[in-house]
Amino acid sequence: MARAIRLYNTLTRRKEKFVPLKEGKVSFYLCGPTVYNHIHIGNARTFLSFDVIRRYLEYAGYEVTFVQNITDVDDKIINRANEEGRTAVEVAAEYSEAFVEGMHALGVLDPTIRPRATEEIPAMIELISCLVEGGHAYEVEGDVYFSVRSFSPYGRLSGRDIEQMRSGARVEVDPRKRDALDFALWKKAKPGEPSWESPWSVGRPGWHSECSAMSARYLGNPFDIHAGGDDLIFPHHENEIAQAESCYHVTFANYWLHGGMLTIDHEKMAKSEGNFLLLKDVLTYVRPFALRLLMLQTHYRSPFDYSAERLQEATAAFERIESALRNLSWTIESYAVVETAPNEIGDKSVSWTADLLQRAENTRERFINSMDDDFNTAGAVAAIFELVTAGNASVKDGIFGEAHRRAVIEARDTIAGLLNVLGVTVDAEPENGLNLSEEVEDLKDTGNAGDARDANDALAAKAVVELAASLVGYLGESPVEAIEFLLAARDEARAEKDWARADAMRDGLNEVGLVIEDTASGTRIVRK
Ligand code: AMP
Ligand code: ZN
Repeated sequence: MARAIRLYNTLTRRKEKFVPLKEGKVSFYLCGPTVYNHIHIGNARTFLSFDVIRRYLEYAGYEVTFVQNITDVDDKIINRANEEGRTAVEVAAEYSEAFVEGMHALGVLDPTIRPRATEEIPAMIELISCLVEGGHAYEVEGDVYFSVRSFSPYGRLSGRDIEQMRSGARVEVDPRKRDALDFALWKKAKPGEPSWESPWSVGRPGWHSECSAMSARYLGNPFDIHAGGDDLIFPHHENEIAQAESCYHVTFANYWLHGGMLTIDHEKMAKSEGNFLLLKDVLTYVRPFALRLLMLQTHYRSPFDYSAERLQEATAAFERIESALRNLSWTIESYAVVETAPNEIGDKSVSWTADLLQRAENTRERFINSMDDDFNTAGAVAAIFELVTAGNASVKDGIFGEAHRRAVIEARDTIAGLLNVLGVTVDAEPENGLNLSEEVEDLKDTGNAGDARDANDALAAKAVVELAASLVGYLGESPVEAIEFLLAARDEARAEKDWARADAMRDGLNEVGLVIEDTASGTRIVRK
């Protein structure tokens, strides 16, 4: 694992070699959602980016402890609850569950630990007490504020000049704060709001307190990587550092990774503009892995512009990979040596095999080099596409001997394996007429209550049986067997040069939505 992963650290504003605190282990904290609504595709982009980074670190051999919180107490949740006449607990429960479901739908791995703010209040009270005792925080009428003046490195992460910020903030100074930049660590609750006992008041923690307390509890300070969208750099992450370092007197996190914002058609996503997309809605018409592939084509730190056209292109690209893998699998399984002169087989086998193995190796190398360079997923995806093209070209004329066949397997497995590192799973099962049988069996059990595809299968299955009965006198009821009979009869007809009969089989199958493909490695049936 002596590999050199380099990552861009917001704190130092440059790419650095990644050196974890403990060899072979990574402690990673990602700010989670505030659960007052379904997550939008911007949130999804950020969570997906760091899911891929986490997966890559694991692929590189690290044991990653990945913590992502859920902010389930917050003003926004309380407001939503009031609007809807529900309790804040109900609102938070509904959207926490929806968030986890959405992450699963998108293929995002569960974090190692998913702490919820409402279950971590004692740790937050402890942190706030530590800050009050150390002179970094003060109480005013049941509220507690962090004193920004007490932490001299304040502004370092965001690169802001705090004197300038202070004069900018003067107009809206809250008279109870000692300094315009001070922020709330604890808020006294209004009647009916979720609240907990504390030394200062019955109240609730401020948002920033959460992440400092939970990351310290589950990862310790310092830990390796802290991540979030770049809109969180200020004030959220700046405040997290101020709280943690003022209490624990050690570095908070060594590397700060920030993802770029998602825009739609080059505009900020805004409900008022009508260009606001929820993940759950998008996933009703987009395959999750196509969405993943689209997002991975932009570097995680760059802004990402979403559009219907780009989504369509990514869907087409994903389908291209999928059909290439199926094609390779099918060719591998139905491998038959191509009939050429013996010496020609030898030559082709050697050159195709060597070429494909070399290309698979190049792709792995380029994938790793791209990902090692601050997780350049766009470069990694491009490398995979090159191998898809090479794999397809390699089997264009069939498979030339066992060595070539093994090289094709290697290429297919490399494509599928590297996609998997990016969290993209492709179904590489060969698609042919024989797959029909399982679905038809299912149908028998469910009594025709299947979806549209099942219904089509049922019709196709019935039509195929009838076709075989009329053309070749097939007496059984199995559509798979019927197809086999038809193909065998067609081969026979072709051998006898009875083209009219052979064509009748092809046309008949075509009418029931099945296409015969004659390839160098044999005949197969695909859906139209
Ligand atoms: P929030 O629930 O608003 O705290 O956001 C959860 C995560 O989504 C944070 O890491 C934000 O940085 C991120 N986020 C919010 N809006 C966007 C956006 N438009 N594009 C990308 N990430 C976003
Ligand atoms: Zn946070």
